[in-house]
Amino acid sequence: MTARVLVVDDIMSNVKLLEAKLAAEYFEVITACNGEQALARVTAELPDIILLDVMMPGMDGFEVCRRVKANPKSTHIPIIMVTALDQPTDRVTGLEAGADDFLTKPVDDMALFARVRSLVRMKTMTDELRMREETGQSMGLADAGETLVEPDPTGRILIVEDRPGSVAWFRAGLEPKNEVADVSNFEEVLVRARGGDFDLIVVSLGIRAFDGLRLCSHLRSLAEARNTPILVLVSEGETRKLAQALDMGVNDYLMRPVDRNELLARVRTQLRKKRYADKMRHNMHLSLEMAITDQLTGLHNRRYMARHLDTLMNNATPAKPIPFLIMDIDYFKSVNDTYGHDSGDEVLREFAGRIGTNIRGIDLACRYGGEEFVVVMPDTDVGYAFTVAERLRQSIESVPFVVSRVTSKLKVTASIGIASSPGTPDKPDALLHRADQALYRAKREGRNRVVAEAA
Ligand code: GH3
Ligand code: MG
Ligand code: MG
Repeated sequence: MTARVLVVDDIMSNVKLLEAKLAAEYFEVITACNGEQALARVTAELPDIILLDVMMPGMDGFEVCRRVKANPKSTHIPIIMVTALDQPTDRVTGLEAGADDFLTKPVDDMALFARVRSLVRMKTMTDELRMREETGQSMGLADAGETLVEPDPTGRILIVEDRPGSVAWFRAGLEPKNEVADVSNFEEVLVRARGGDFDLIVVSLGIRAFDGLRLCSHLRSLAEARNTPILVLVSEGETRKLAQALDMGVNDYLMRPVDRNELLARVRTQLRKKRYADKMRHNMHLSLEMAITDQLTGLHNRRYMARHLDTLMNNATPAKPIPFLIMDIDYFKSVNDTYGHDSGDEVLREFAGRIGTNIRGIDLACRYGGEEFVVVMPDTDVGYAFTVAERLRQSIESVPFVVSRVTSKLKVTASIGIASSPGTPDKPDALLHRADQALYRAKREGRNRVVAEAA
């Protein structure tokens, strides 16, 4: 893995030392020797991670951290504070300023590299989600700002620990704000993780009943828990274990003896990141939905229909014909002219709803354009398709449409043309054209009728 690391320290020998260590591991290193310079390099070069000294003349590391995190362009860049201070209160100040971690000088190489790798890997994942989100926004499929996350979210937390005292301590810190469950059996953790939609799993690597690292690795390979953050609890001196945990995808850690505020700060960070990623995944899903959906009626749109028809016709055989219905509302322009465009929209929505109630789950209904709709009926003979079309036509004609701003109900009718793929190589365009011709005949012969192409 390669990444661009910004090293910030006011003492040149510290910068050089970290730079040499990181360069030896093939990281690209850029440097800054005070807060202002650091901020300038952050905006100009958007590094993948920042190693930030706390004590610097002028703007200190906490302030730099706050500013980087307050800027929407750089808020996603992970920050590791590197400092000679090692009081829990300093760590908490750093975490509250938005830092992702805290390392104490002299920096242990193994811990440093493992942490840098793990934070960069997690950033790569969120970057990917963010880019998709941006694409969705630029296509008008998602709203900017929908991924804003409340600053102090709460969640469901699973504690994996077998020491009653430790479990009680976690509960005292996290409840009642969060919903906490505790488990100390390997299989049960997997079962709960699979079914329990937890927002965070805390694993004590000192658990006696089984190997905590093995559990973490299982959790990471579990599809249902892959996106659930894991926070491990390690004892001082267990650097190798910690490095292994981070390399296998554990998100964060706590070092015993744990300070309560540090626990809260790290839990809060993980819950916030999880919420953010969940929202982005959700928005991505919505964007995909929107890209294939007609906004007014909720039916599939023309783009989706064209693609799907391609697929269907590639798989069609003479024994499995594909009838294609094209419907056009009669004199729809006069609905708009008489009652207004909004009323016209209401008619279109109701019309789409009636299509939906008259077709089967496997049939594909689309809004083809303005007041034209299409239904594709895979693996169906034309006789049946004609029956469905006739039923649809009647369901539209027989029940007048209710429109909110109009007191009297509107009588609406539609004309329907049917063509069917014969199953031999046949292009979607040709099928569409033939259905259109049948529709044209239906219009010419007086509207409010179904016409199938001549066999
Ligand atoms: P015909 O019986 O021959 O089909 O006549 P028609 O009036 O239905 O057909 P025409 O193609 O002349 O008019 C279609 C109208 O549909 C014109 C257009 O303004 C309207 N329309 C297209 N899209 C929308 C829409 O999204 N909302 C509303 N309210 N009207 C739309
Ligand atoms: Mg039309
Ligand atoms: Mg029309």
